[in-house]
Amino acid sequence: AKDIGGNYYITFAQSMNDVIIERMQIEEQLHNAMENKEFVLFYQPQYDIMENKITGMEALIRWNNPVLGHVPPLKFIEIAEETHYIIPLGKWVLEEACAFMKKIQPINNSGLTISINISILQLLQNDFVDMVLAIIEQNNLEPSLVELEITESILMESYDIIKEKLNKLCEKGIKIALDDFGKGYSSLSYLKVLPISTLKIDKSFVDSIYDDSGSNSLTEHIVIMGRSLGLKLVAEGVETKEQLDYLINHKCHKIQGYLYSKPLPEQTIIEFLEKETVL
Ligand code: C2E
Ligand code: CA
Ligand code: CA
Ligand code: CA
Repeated sequence: AKDIGGNYYITFAQSMNDVIIERMQIEEQLHNAMENKEFVLFYQPQYDIMENKITGMEALIRWNNPVLGHVPPLKFIEIAEETHYIIPLGKWVLEEACAFMKKIQPINNSGLTISINISILQLLQNDFVDMVLAIIEQNNLEPSLVELEITESILMESYDIIKEKLNKLCEKGIKIALDDFGKGYSSLSYLKVLPISTLKIDKSFVDSIYDDSGSNSLTEHIVIMGRSLGLKLVAEGVETKEQLDYLINHKCHKIQGYLYSKPLPEQTIIEFLEKETVL
């Protein structure tokens, strides 16, 4: 028993060590990643299941580092937030996504939108609103085609400041989506007082459709509530035909997920859109 205990300890210490080393490596490699042009944006289409057409896409960051290889955002965004690297990185994402929208303008006759993930730390910067407006203007974009995705947890802190900034953005026509809805705290009161136009139903709800856990009726209620508040509903991470049928039957507006399309690199999504607009 002593041996087993000892081995357990070593194994545990070893894996702790791995986690710490990985974290340090990520932090170190992040430093020069932007100037070395290691980031790219992928774009995942959002498909309107009522209107049967693609209506926009979400920008998702990808990092390919010469030392670490492909590092998924779930591994580095949090570290980028802790080190405040997310401030310049988040700005780069906004610039890159808006430049992409400018590029596709000639084929964007149907008013496809771009959804961009925003971190609380960006939102809390004094110049955030002006920065967003400047980037939109530099790229000659219609503000209503730009949607910023924020998560609920961030709303708990600094509520007044956030409300004021979101209102300013909204007055200019920019849309706000509440991301990962239903995960963690879900304060319905936010939906009434903040200028939110879209609810993104978290993948965990979509996953539980037809898994007998009883939470599919919760999904149904989110849709009913969202609709009654006049919100657009986007179901995240839709992977199966069964999930799609359920969402159609329960009148969810849009889906985003592998069933329709994975996030695609810029050139591929442009070809995808060109095909779509011909149809
Ligand atoms: P998110 O905003 O909830 O983005 C949706 C995630 O679900 C993406 O993961 C997407 O690739 C994935 N996904 C979409 N459809 C499916 C599906 O059918 N099945 C499965 N299994 N997954 C699906 P990704 O790209 O790895 O991003 C993870 C998270 O990292 C994002 O979650 C977001 O919170 C964050 N993130 C990504 N890009 C950015 C960014 O530019 N800025 C910031 N601040 N955060 C970002
Ligand atoms: Ca998102
Ligand atoms: Ca999400
Ligand atoms: Ca998520």
